[in-house]
Amino acid sequence: MKAVLLICAAGVGSRMRADRPKQYLEILNKPILTRTVERFYGLDFIERTAVVVSPTDPYVDALGLEELGVEVLRVGGETRAHSVNNGIRKLSESIGEDFWVLVHDAARPIVDPACVERLVKAVEESGAAGGILAEKAVETLKMDDGSGSIERTVDRSRIWRAQTPQLFRASDLICAFEECDPEKITDEASLLEGSGRRIILVEGNPQNIKITRPEDLEAAEQFLSRKSAGMMRIGQGYDSHRLVEGRPLIIGGVEIPHEKGLDGHSDADVLLHAVTDALLGACGLGDIGEHFPPSDPKWKGADSAVLLEKIVELSLEEGWRIENLDATIVAEAPKFKPYKDAIRRRVAEILRIDPSCVSIKAKTNEGMDAVGRREGMMAFAVVLVARQ
Ligand code: MG
Repeated sequence: MKAVLLICAAGVGSRMRADRPKQYLEILNKPILTRTVERFYGLDFIERTAVVVSPTDPYVDALGLEELGVEVLRVGGETRAHSVNNGIRKLSESIGEDFWVLVHDAARPIVDPACVERLVKAVEESGAAGGILAEKAVETLKMDDGSGSIERTVDRSRIWRAQTPQLFRASDLICAFEECDPEKITDEASLLEGSGRRIILVEGNPQNIKITRPEDLEAAEQFLSRKSAGMMRIGQGYDSHRLVEGRPLIIGGVEIPHEKGLDGHSDADVLLHAVTDALLGACGLGDIGEHFPPSDPKWKGADSAVLLEKIVELSLEEGWRIENLDATIVAEAPKFKPYKDAIRRRVAEILRIDPSCVSIKAKTNEGMDAVGRREGMMAFAVVLVARQ
């Protein structure tokens, strides 16, 4: 089965009492809507992803969803039902009405992809008209008498709490939308209930909460940080520069007396460049050339310490903490021993970590190759980062 994923992100989320709709609030430095979209990455039955937002939405562009291959449909309506209906109709303009659509709430950013897979498989194998993820009620349920007193206890054995995603044929939903009262529709399944068609319940995961109140945001944050706390990643970096006359030699942010200096667009700090690439690599954030293109005159003569500081800032924003750095400088001369400690302390300062977590080693190339002929220097670095 192939399905189109339609994420409904047109709500205003007034219960959050925030300055913006809840789908744009951040959990661990990432907007909820981006997190929700990312939950579905790698599910191969999803052939297309679209997000429905309000026509006047001022926040969505900043997320760069289109660069991730997500279509942004600015057709949100007054109610959830209107938004989903408009979204499906918009999609049907290009692909007709004969497709499966997986409708999901933008405010459910921690849905388990394994549950989504189970839902799709169960609908496919059962031949049902559709299916939803849901959770069995575990609490004792009371029905009131309309005035705040208990009328009776409800038999919970057949009660489920509906979640999303919900999977249906687009054509079925389009027909049902025509006859429904959109004010009363809070999920897609309720459109087809009572139509005689079979809609199956697939047990989801209680973690798949809908972020509605400020407490939910905290719970999601806790869940995600627990899940990733301590997760470690490693990155390696390498750099080399030619030695030329008439330039200062700057290694690890420290100026070192020498008859030649390294040549380059910036200050050519070979060590800090290797460290920057190692940190970028560990965080999966690209490489130094992408962040500071040599073609950009802005970086001419740049202080590499300032560039690395920017990348340290970025890695912190992305939720990474630097654990340690191990680096090696390869150069025939000068002798680095007298400067190693100053370099170590300066690099630790730039990385905002304790000097005990920084190791700087220096060695010669035993007279071999260009570095051995004193034509240039090389540096290697390994950085370990952990989820904050
Ligand atoms: Mg370089």
